[in-house]
Amino acid sequence: MPTETIEMKEDRKAKQPSKTSDIPKNGHKVLIIEDEQPLVEALVYNLEKEGYETMVALDGQEGLRKAISTSPDFILLDLMLPSLNGIEILRELRSNDRTRNTPIIVVTAKAEETDQVVGFSMGADDYVTKPFSVKVLLQRIKALKRRTEPAEEELEIKVLEHRGVKVDQVRHKAFLGKHELDLTPTEYRLLECLIRQPGRAFSRVQLMEFAIGEGAIVLERTIDVHIKTLRKKLGNMDMIETVRGLGYRFQE
Ligand code: CA
Repeated sequence: MPTETIEMKEDRKAKQPSKTSDIPKNGHKVLIIEDEQPLVEALVYNLEKEGYETMVALDGQEGLRKAISTSPDFILLDLMLPSLNGIEILRELRSNDRTRNTPIIVVTAKAEETDQVVGFSMGADDYVTKPFSVKVLLQRIKALKRRTEPAEEELEIKVLEHRGVKVDQVRHKAFLGKHELDLTPTEYRLLECLIRQPGRAFSRVQLMEFAIGEGAIVLERTIDVHIKTLRKKLGNMDMIETVRGLGYRFQE
């Protein structure tokens, strides 16, 4: 098919002299689901040159199986594939817990607007239309990596846990035992502030600054209202104690 001719002659010429096995790995696995052998070879060569570890599937069924069993960091997915098309693969990958959040770049010869819309609504993270240059694809992968990887400081934060209450700071969720609490953003931040230092008394002003933001014009009583609903949701009125004349503290 003439539309699928790939412009990567220069990249392939360079293939002969160097060996990609000598290149240090960057720790990222890319799964290439693509049925065009020459394109696959060019992608493998160029990705490995950049330090990526590559895996290849030449048809849809194999691609889906490998995506789920190997948990790649990225997937390059062609839409027109034998045995199972890319749209069906996308749908399957997005409904599977292991691949729900895996960044996927759709690589295809079909450039119509409607396909792009379908691709994105099915959960593709980016879209590259053939013919494309490998350089452009690598840039898109790097951009996607920046967008989808949590910032380092975020990774360092752990789950806060005290008296059966758990606050997951990465997912911004709070739990009572196994049960997820349905908190408003303000209630969540109040709980997060208090549970960080159980036993420490916080003034209403401190809590307001933490939960609503510095300089926010809110009556101190507002905090009392939020604490009241938070206590109800925790199902235990004693877990957050009132500190007379000051504010509140989380039971030690
Ligand atoms: Ca194809």
